[in-house]
Amino acid sequence: MSAVIWLALDGVGHPADAPPDSVWEQDLPALRPLIDAGLALDAALGVPGLPQSGTGQSCWLTGLDAVQLMGKGGAGQQAGEHFGPHPGPTLQALLREASLPVRLTRAGGAAALLNFYPPGYFAAQARRPRYGCFPFSFLAAGLPLNPPGLPSVSPLLGLHHDFPWAAAQSLDDLRRTGESLARTAENADLLVIDLWLSDLLGHQGRPAAPPELLTAGKRYLRHLDALLSGMLGAGGRVVVGSDHGNFENLNIKAHTTARVPFAGSGVALGQPGNIVEAGAVMAGWFGLT
Ligand SMILES: [Zn+2]
Repeated sequence: MSAVIWLALDGVGHPADAPPDSVWEQDLPALRPLIDAGLALDAALGVPGLPQSGTGQSCWLTGLDAVQLMGKGGAGQQAGEHFGPHPGPTLQALLREASLPVRLTRAGGAAALLNFYPPGYFAAQARRPRYGCFPFSFLAAGLPLNPPGLPSVSPLLGLHHDFPWAAAQSLDDLRRTGESLARTAENADLLVIDLWLSDLLGHQGRPAAPPELLTAGKRYLRHLDALLSGMLGAGGRVVVGSDHGNFENLNIKAHTTARVPFAGSGVALGQPGNIVEAGAVMAGWFGLT
């Protein structure tokens, strides 16, 4: 069976919890039916405060409650803590031991992180290592970033990095990339793309934000839609999830407590209620329990 391609969205709350006139309010012929047929999961995990990338992504990657783990041993006897954006020592130890790329590789499976990392990324990491949960987990598994011989995907998905985030690639380009990813999947077990531009755009949110922000947000989802349509058209098995809300509400700058999508094609989603349980479901796809 071909690999599962995991589109790990950053900061994308479920459309059911988005305010009116959000980025979701548009025609997304591949993405929206997939999301609507999937689940909306709790990412707050019963802990006060706003969900963060470090703990949220660790929950997905391990199927364990990283938020509870962060609260342990704290001075205030607190029951859980949202932590991020990058994993610190506690979460790093968890990811080294229990993240999906590590466990899958240990079991003889083939996993790859397909993000394209530019030279500047490696230079910045050399000065001050601050890997996000996804690159950290793949490195912990002994796997390279920018894996040779595999297609790489920019998490910008064909948008410029800076305001007004204009399109640098066509939807057809993205569709073709999606098709090529689905073909690559025939020789692997798990392919992951860590898609963080949504969170960056979400943090630009504010009351009366410039209209270019909403336009760019909608563009990002259309590009994601095109990538997905290429994958699905070529028979790819795909899962879409997100670590917390943010991007679905561009009226505010911060993360949100919105539920997050868990959706897929060619995979059994089961009945998880939160992102920890969803992480466990995903591990189960590879016989890891
Ligand atoms: Zn995040």
